[in-house]
Amino acid sequence: MTCKGCHSDRQRMFNGEIAIHFRGLEGLDQPIVWVFQETVVCLHCGFTEFTVPKRELQVLETGSPVEGAVVLSRGRPQPQEKSGTKSASAGMN
Ligand SMILES: [Zn+2]
Repeated sequence: MTCKGCHSDRQRMFNGEIAIHFRGLEGLDQPIVWVFQETVVCLHCGFTEFTVPKRELQVLETGSPVEGAVVLSRGRPQPQEKSGTKSASAGMN
């Protein structure tokens, strides 16, 4: 297998953990999606290739968390809460 970027055969497989963010200011209100996937890295030019699994892909398509996907949901900043109440807008699912 050769690199799609530079045609080198110096590629190696790694285990990857990649956090995908939506772009722009509106992305601040969108979830962050973690993808845990084997990743092929070209040791010559750095070109990296991986596939987003279907479940995480669905989060990227819809912008909404999906059961089983590792997502950090973020909403607009909430007004300051009284002590003892719990925020439902942020946290790992
Ligand atoms: Zn390369």
